[in-house]
Amino acid sequence: MQIRVGQGFDIHPFIEDPQRPLVLGGVVFESDQALRGHSDADVIAHACADALLGAAGLGDIGQHFPDTDPQWEGANSIALLAETTRRVREAGWEPGNVDASVVTDHPKLAPAREEMQRRLSHAVGAPVTVKGRRPEGLGALGRGEGVACWAVAVVVKQ
Ligand code: MG
Repeated sequence: MQIRVGQGFDIHPFIEDPQRPLVLGGVVFESDQALRGHSDADVIAHACADALLGAAGLGDIGQHFPDTDPQWEGANSIALLAETTRRVREAGWEPGNVDASVVTDHPKLAPAREEMQRRLSHAVGAPVTVKGRRPEGLGALGRGEGVACWAVAVVVKQ
């Protein structure tokens, strides 16, 4: 059996837009702020997808879902993650698990953690865990200018 590990990172800036939903881990949060991006800007789903692609040696999310492609404008990132998983499987790799660390003060993730994990895990077909970390006032994240996420994925080939 072959085992590969991949690492993913994503970051999106906050914008004031009460009309645009704030989506993290496939869950819509109540907020006057949203994350700017071509898709729904779900940093957690994007970091998980990048980690899976890296693990499978399939490049990165920008290659698979270019932000110049109108097909992905406003895209549901849980669907992107599911499509990523399909491509990873097509290449002969089976996701083992994904673990993500989200850095932000806002919104409070804990109440939605189980639901985020459920939606992400469903898309990946393997356990996805989400941990929230506060930026402790440091830098752009500490000033609440955006949300960053790091993720690690393991894939196996029998
Ligand atoms: Mg992104």
